[in-house]
Amino acid sequence: MTRRRRIVFGVITGLALFSATLAVVGLPASSHPAEPSELGVARSETELVQDLEQPGPIELETLVAADWEVPLSGLLNLDAPEAQAAGLEDRDEPIQIFFYSVRHPKFGLFVVDTGVEWALANQPESSLLGGLVGDVMHREKIRVKLDMRTWLARQQEPLVGVFLTHMHTDHIEGLPDIPTEVPVYAGRGETHGREFSHAFTAGITDQALAGHPAVREWKFPKEKRGVIDVFGDGSLWALQVPGHTSGSTAYLARTTKGPVLMVGDTCHTAWGWRHGVEPGSFTADQEVNRESLAWLRQLVAEHPEVQVRLGHQWLDADAPVAASSGD
Ligand SMILES: [Zn+2]
Repeated sequence: MTRRRRIVFGVITGLALFSATLAVVGLPASSHPAEPSELGVARSETELVQDLEQPGPIELETLVAADWEVPLSGLLNLDAPEAQAAGLEDRDEPIQIFFYSVRHPKFGLFVVDTGVEWALANQPESSLLGGLVGDVMHREKIRVKLDMRTWLARQQEPLVGVFLTHMHTDHIEGLPDIPTEVPVYAGRGETHGREFSHAFTAGITDQALAGHPAVREWKFPKEKRGVIDVFGDGSLWALQVPGHTSGSTAYLARTTKGPVLMVGDTCHTAWGWRHGVEPGSFTADQEVNRESLAWLRQLVAEHPEVQVRLGHQWLDADAPVAASSGD
């Protein structure tokens, strides 16, 4: 081998090893600090369902931050037997970016996820999606309906906390509009969970969390299917549903109008929910995601009074007539 060939061979081997290491080990979602949450009490699944039929104290609103289109192969595992049997093929799928307001009469106003920031529609180049990641996510296809700054300005009471389903960019995009003293809560291991894709997104996640205190992570047990009673009064529950990301979390609210399950991206689509098919390329661990989804579907099958809010689509019956806000 000539010296030149040896150098080229060495560089290629080095790059391949580097990529392989990244793919196996991955990078953390963020370098922002995280600590176990003082809020929330670990409970059992039995306790979770105990008073489900009783109306609760929470007022919940489902808000559409934006309409968007993304490839179906990201939202749905098209290789799953159910998708194959239905002959589903990749295409651009219309979706929504949601967030939820959770009003507790004693503990105040919270949001689940954050929708999108004001800058996205008004000064896109200075938004979190202003750079390369925004290009890849087709920022130009996001049609903003209600940004976080506008929504916050309409509220009579201050926002007390942010409960995240996970830290993907489309769920933390509204954070820049939220005052930095407001604490952010997420699932156990979400902040520093490792994935290859974080090589592209960690900078944005750090930027979104900048100035906020350490992320407070739910004290789920080590095993899957942990359940946390967020306020300790059985009104709002965090459910450990790993798979989409390592710390993915669903929330179940006992509202004045009955129980509402916010699934997060454990299931993006109405088709996926109806057929029990996990997301496609947007999900980190499809097998674990599928198990988490099966658990949530079973919970709803056993308690049909639970209304379901999916990650990025309305379940048909829940779609509002005017698609700006629901409930
Ligand atoms: Zn999402």
